[in-house]
Amino acid sequence: MIVGAPDQKPPGSAGDGERVDAGLYAQAQAESRAMSSFLNLIVHDLRAPLTVLSGYLDLLRDGTFGEAPDGWRGPLRLIAGKLQETNRLVDDLLLAARLESGAVPASIETLNLTDVIARAATRGEARARLTVATIETAPPPSAVMARGDVFHVDRIVDNLINNALNYGGATPWVRLSVDPGDPPAIRVEDHGVGISATLHQRIFDRFFRVDNNVPGTGFGLHVGRVLAEACGGSLSIERSAPGEGSVFRLELPSAA
Ligand code: ADP
Repeated sequence: MIVGAPDQKPPGSAGDGERVDAGLYAQAQAESRAMSSFLNLIVHDLRAPLTVLSGYLDLLRDGTFGEAPDGWRGPLRLIAGKLQETNRLVDDLLLAARLESGAVPASIETLNLTDVIARAATRGEARARLTVATIETAPPPSAVMARGDVFHVDRIVDNLINNALNYGGATPWVRLSVDPGDPPAIRVEDHGVGISATLHQRIFDRFFRVDNNVPGTGFGLHVGRVLAEACGGSLSIERSAPGEGSVFRLELPSAA
């Protein structure tokens, strides 16, 4: 399935108003192409030094330059975590370039949602340890099967976990659960800072960020929503309020 970029609808073909629309559409397309080339350029320029840094870090950790003193373990782990974050940012930029150029391919298969949350919790563990956070899973009593692109779904859940850790307060707590309803859903819950009702829709806008001290791009939830829709599903806030934490909900078509 191919999903077009959300704000790129071709206009009609007759009448003055439509000619103006066609002009604006052509301009928007040209801007999108320019943005896509720009993002591709940045990704290309960032990838090379990041690969070198990751290579040297591996060599330091496996003792190629001699046994690392005990006191280095913490800093090396921290550098590894930060490199992982930067690589994720570069992946986001690459995806942004793809979205700008208008297509998100999805390879749809049947997924066991219990496996999806278990794997996501394992992937999040290293980051959780760095932030002294807890990630829990609450698997459903029986298997819940859904349809989706496994890479997209993993990416969406990873991003929701990262947000729950980033905006989770001093000792973040995250719970991943599965709603066996129709459509089935993955729920990502935290006890963090929460989001006021007036912003529940806007946080899915591209590059929108709430003013806070956490570094970020404002891109993750937008990408998450586009990827969820490419799978035939949706990404939304189930509930969130300032000081009361949040629950994000990824619904996918049922495979039943
Ligand atoms: P980023 O985290 O890079 O800013 P996102 O698109 O993932 O980008 O999130 C947009 C904004 O939504 C964030 O800046 C943050 O203010 C808010 N947000 C996202 N997830 C949460 C959450 N779990 N708890 C509180 N606020 C959140």
